[in-house]
Amino acid sequence: MTDPRHLIVVANRLPVRRVSTIDGSEWITSPGGLVSALAPTMTERGNATWVGWAGTAGRAPEPFTHEGIRLVPIELSRAEVQQYYEGFSNSTLWPLYHDAIAQPEYHRTWWDAYVKVNRRFADTVLDIADKDATVWVHDYQLQLVPGMLRQAMPDLRIGFFFHTPFPARELFLRLPWRAQIVRALLGADLIGFQTEVMAHNFRHVVPRFLDDVSSDIDDEVISWAGRSTVAQRHPIGIDYDRFATAASSPETASAVDTLQEALNHPRTVLLGVDRLDYTKGIERRLRAYSELLDEDRVSADDTVLIQIAEPSRTNVNGYAEIRAEVEQLVGEINGTHGTMTRPAVHYMHRSHAFEELIAMYRLADVMLVTPFRDGMNLVAKEYVATRFDDTGVLVLSEFAGAAHELPQSVLVNPYDIDGLKEAIEFAVSMDRGEQRNRMSAMRTAVATNTAQHWARTFIEELEH
Ligand code: UDP
Repeated sequence: MTDPRHLIVVANRLPVRRVSTIDGSEWITSPGGLVSALAPTMTERGNATWVGWAGTAGRAPEPFTHEGIRLVPIELSRAEVQQYYEGFSNSTLWPLYHDAIAQPEYHRTWWDAYVKVNRRFADTVLDIADKDATVWVHDYQLQLVPGMLRQAMPDLRIGFFFHTPFPARELFLRLPWRAQIVRALLGADLIGFQTEVMAHNFRHVVPRFLDDVSSDIDDEVISWAGRSTVAQRHPIGIDYDRFATAASSPETASAVDTLQEALNHPRTVLLGVDRLDYTKGIERRLRAYSELLDEDRVSADDTVLIQIAEPSRTNVNGYAEIRAEVEQLVGEINGTHGTMTRPAVHYMHRSHAFEELIAMYRLADVMLVTPFRDGMNLVAKEYVATRFDDTGVLVLSEFAGAAHELPQSVLVNPYDIDGLKEAIEFAVSMDRGEQRNRMSAMRTAVATNTAQHWARTFIEELEH
């Protein structure tokens, strides 16, 4: 069924990237949760546009259509990439919204670039939107866009979704431009958050900036200036079928056999899969594992930890430091506990393709997802989706959004090294019956709230 209303998705990045081919280059669909969540809905409507940056500084390509979706590229100069993207988005908002795990930097020039680039995104939408279009804006890089759109075209349906956390009130209040951001977000009709706590955090800051607001922190509806905004939990899911199908394929089974052979058939495989980011808690996880080995509570003779650390934001402050710390720890652990044929930690600082990740998830007896703070953490859900036989244990940080939907995981406080060690020990020794009970409940949750379900319910809520 096609909906007559024009749907415009606005996100920092377009859902495609340019790759070189023998005779030039071509656009291919980027891997990623948002793309697989939105593509079916957008293709089905037939009248959908995605506005975003193509990923390289300088002149933007002309608008084009890719796999049934109209794509409108936004131009960013090199200076804007530094100030709007690496600066205000990833060195101010990212650390602040993740509980200031790294110190946020506040620079007025970065804010100016953020306003300017948000204005460019909004103007691009205004050029293509009919007056009753539905516009869905994504994430912390574009918080000013809802207000800019509302001012110019009051009849638009405007949705906004935070993929990141929204922080506790006292943290958010540090932001010098907090009032402008709250007011702009309230240009949306619907603001979606990964958890109820994050929605609550937002509702808690609103009255501070608006005199005539009618809002109750426990009420999802915020009324202000004759309009209302719903601030509500909409946890994102994954493309469950894609992961479940790939997990049970013969190719995956043979890739798992090959890996097991290469690792010399360890009794227990522990796995971490993260972007190399200071929010992910990789160094604490390694310390916990290292102490377990030191104390002979786990043995490198029959246990191995695989840590995938996908390179990320190499130009942003804090990322080189976390990489150095992680790599030093890996070196120490292997120096102390590894042998010629069996390292205690296999560490890979490179990006892995979907098929490789599926094989890793199938190989892992224990999945370690221990971020200090994470909006959702899709890796946790992906692991669960691949466990078709209900084996395996998920150790999950209380501070990942996923913890709210997966209470049958082994929940940990990632700041508590002793607690982490106990959780890993508990996970390693969990019997099959308990694994099955926990995993089947989690699998049902992940299979029910899929990415497609998330996109559909958000758009339905926004339009009806
Ligand atoms: N991922 C990947 N290759 C890698 C590591 C991760 O494709 O080498 C994917 C992973 O499957 C997941 C996403 O990257 O879909 C990470 O999402 P998550 O929510 O866990 O964390 P984020 O990176 O968004 O903070």
